[in-house]
Amino acid sequence: MNIKAKLTFSIGVLVAMIILLVVLSILNLQMLTATDPDSPAAEPGLQRALIWVLVIGAASIAVGVSMLFRIPASIEQPVKELANAIQEVANHNYSKRLNLTRDHEFAEVSKNFNRMVMRMEEYDSSLLSEMMAAKKYMETIINSLNEPIIALNNDMEVLYINEESLNVLNLRREDVIGRSSQALSLHNDLLRRLIRGLVDENSDSKEARKRKKEPLKIYAYDKESYFQVKYINILQPEKEGEVMQKVGYIIMLKNITEFKELDSAKTTFISTISHELKTPISAILMSLQLLEDKRLGALNSEQADLAAGIRENSERLLEITGELLNISLVEAGKLQLKPKVTKPIELIEYAVKANRVQAERFNVQIEVDYPEKIKKLFVDCEKIAWVLTNLLSNAVRYSSEQGRAVIGAYQPDEGHVCIYVQDFGKGISPRFHESIFEPYFRVPGTKLQGSGLGLSISRDFVDAHGGTLYVDSEMGKGSTFTVTLPA
Ligand code: ADP
Repeated sequence: MNIKAKLTFSIGVLVAMIILLVVLSILNLQMLTATDPDSPAAEPGLQRALIWVLVIGAASIAVGVSMLFRIPASIEQPVKELANAIQEVANHNYSKRLNLTRDHEFAEVSKNFNRMVMRMEEYDSSLLSEMMAAKKYMETIINSLNEPIIALNNDMEVLYINEESLNVLNLRREDVIGRSSQALSLHNDLLRRLIRGLVDENSDSKEARKRKKEPLKIYAYDKESYFQVKYINILQPEKEGEVMQKVGYIIMLKNITEFKELDSAKTTFISTISHELKTPISAILMSLQLLEDKRLGALNSEQADLAAGIRENSERLLEITGELLNISLVEAGKLQLKPKVTKPIELIEYAVKANRVQAERFNVQIEVDYPEKIKKLFVDCEKIAWVLTNLLSNAVRYSSEQGRAVIGAYQPDEGHVCIYVQDFGKGISPRFHESIFEPYFRVPGTKLQGSGLGLSISRDFVDAHGGTLYVDSEMGKGSTFTVTLPA
């Protein structure tokens, strides 16, 4: 039966009983007014009418009370069941079904509800299987890459690791997934270095910067291999449209063994060539010396000009071969220091002397700013003098005509001595302040000849002494290069 019929029937019965009650009461009243109520003839009729009124009244009350409780309950119960079922579906329980058969309307609602949930269940399982397939696909792709990849969450637990990483780290998948990488790294040197690298990523200390530059040397694939480590933050918004938040890290290792081998072949080649070139260039310069000394006869002015040109180019060649030899020493890790106690002024004077001719040519005045009292240094004089000569040469070359360059020293604290070279040239844009220390880098648009090696070698030489070399520069105002050394 449907709710409407049920309500109509119940209310109809109630109304009929009330009408009956009213009719009986009217009849009773008529009987009372028509007959003498005290006459014995009226008594049985009156009593019968009273009994009927009582019976029908009681029945009406019983039906009314039963309707009062049963009708709301018969509607409330299925509504409650429906509300619970909706709640379950909202919590992704798509196996929930309704079975409301008592009322036609609720039977219809429950049939449609079940059909809807069935569809959602089908969609959910197809979506899940699609997602599982996509995940498997991604895993296969990452696994087939021959670069090791590890994904960690914010708690440094391993979320994903590909086969190549397992090989290189010598680990088993079942021992790794979901485990803390820090706990695993206690028994795995390589993983420990990778985790430390992750910490270094956010550090700007000198050691961290140095470690970041160095490739990872590992015994893998049956030989000594080199890897470049890359750390990438995994970013994801907490909810659609919200700002990105870091939810973990990806560690990627790029195998650069082949490049490293080529690089070391290049270094050996450069070292051999520059070494071999030094002797003939020196011979050319010696022969020139003889020509210029006029021991073999006087030179006419044209010949003297030619000899000066040959000298200039030979000296430049000798300078370049010297730089190449130095960089190959640094790259091959063969840099050896021969330190001795030196006064900073000796190094400064060497640099000034070495740049005198060039300063005259560029019409730049060199000034020395030296304090009365300064601590001595314990350094490889040849290397630090080379650094200062190179810095002063840059200051002269990159200064404007008729400019000036200052070379000086001061003591910032008890344990250090700073030697600086200042020019008032065009300056260096802040975005190149780090790149100028990279080998072969030259600021775009630099017209003067150069190799781009001087500053890189200088930084390596200063680093080898446990010191620092940095630049302060402002466009249009000039630059100051400062070497800080332990005293
Ligand atoms: P090179 O001078 O042989 O090119 P360096 O390594 O000494 O190589 O310098 C790298 C680059 O930095 C230069 O090419 C130049 O662009 C820039 N640079 C260096 N010193 C100065 C300076 N004092 N003023 C302006 N630019 C400079």
